Amino acid sequence: MVTYHLTGALRGTDLTEVWVVEGRISHRNPAAARCDLSGGARHDSTGGPDRPAAADGDNGQGERTAGSERTSGSTASPNGPEASPEIVEITGWIYPGLLDAHTHPGLSHTADPVTDGEVLRRLRACRAQGVTHIREMGAQRDVATLTSPDSPTYVPGLPKVIRAGRHIARPMRYMRHLPSEIEPRELPAEALRQLARSDGWIKLVGDWIDRSEGLAADLRPLWPRDVLVEAVAAVHEAGGKVAVHTFATETVDDLLAAGVDSIEHGSGMTRDQLLEARDRGILIDPTVRQMATFPEIASHATKYPVYRDHMLSMDAGRAKHIQLMVELGSHFIMGSDTAEDVAERGMSVELARAVADGMPASVSMSAASYEGRRRLGLPTWEEGAPADFVVYNADPEQDVSTTAWPAAVLIDGVSTA
Ligand SMILES: [Zn+2]
Repeated sequence: MVTYHLTGALRGTDLTEVWVVEGRISHRNPAAARCDLSGGARHDSTGGPDRPAAADGDNGQGERTAGSERTSGSTASPNGPEASPEIVEITGWIYPGLLDAHTHPGLSHTADPVTDGEVLRRLRACRAQGVTHIREMGAQRDVATLTSPDSPTYVPGLPKVIRAGRHIARPMRYMRHLPSEIEPRELPAEALRQLARSDGWIKLVGDWIDRSEGLAADLRPLWPRDVLVEAVAAVHEAGGKVAVHTFATETVDDLLAAGVDSIEHGSGMTRDQLLEARDRGILIDPTVRQMATFPEIASHATKYPVYRDHMLSMDAGRAKHIQLMVELGSHFIMGSDTAEDVAERGMSVELARAVADGMPASVSMSAASYEGRRRLGLPTWEEGAPADFVVYNADPEQDVSTTAWPAAVLIDGVSTA
């Protein structure tokens, strides 16, 4: 495997350089380690241009030419002596690989499951946008056949997937074909059933339009509070976590009472609810780009004027609401809420939308990378961790559109871009 030396603006760490050895992060120069073993013998191996060692030590925040991969020989080593094999230099603005915390590679909007080829296409589209991990927030198709290293049909080099089973909803209270549809009393058992087909998360639909109310139809909670509390407790008892889709305000107090772990969308959350979520460490996945589709959703709701107006009023306050979440210090994770459209509307679009709506680029990038990863228990820069990185030619915190064109993406130390 190729050994890499990463320098430049390393985001989310105080380290100024790291190495990638056998696919894992090393804080120690492997060449120096070899020379220690060989008694400090000096080798001049083949390689690239002579450069002053100091060039590698610049951890500047944007002044240097960056984003290039180049092969260097021993002369590039700040520690002087170096044995073969060669080390490939990567420099630029380097982040732990992005986490798309809400996407759906295995979701079908029809009765037919997605094919292997389509799952692979979606995951590769994620990777092309710098995403090395995803949390799949509900799908009929179990993608583990392709993404689990234990599977005989495993495909290496894809973003790593945290699955959440299938959406759980009540009949007629979510999109067709997607959810496991149950009655409220079945929720605790169904939550455990989906947890068994997941990587530790489940996904509940917390509210949706209740069309049975006719002209008065609006967003309504799906679950009585006591059932929700029981289901979340059962999942926690089993070591799992609960993510809940919610647009409405009236659902959120029940979610807070139940102690859910992650609120998806959260467009109806009040200031007090956001404060409580923050104080309880509940993650907020604002899916900003998805929230920007409320006018389109409203345009189809011709038979439901109350619901239509509700969606339009949330849209009118969308940017202010995102800014309020930022101001209150919400624990963000970032998700694109994409499925078949991930190539067109993936994480780079989500990040651009978030910044356009007033989330500082530093906040959105940290939430999409190292902070978000930590919040889901994923490694970042730790010694020995899998080397999952995204590299940019320019600073995405100066120009977020940079995220559409990563210079390199490393998954398990293998460069794929
Ligand atoms: Zn979704």
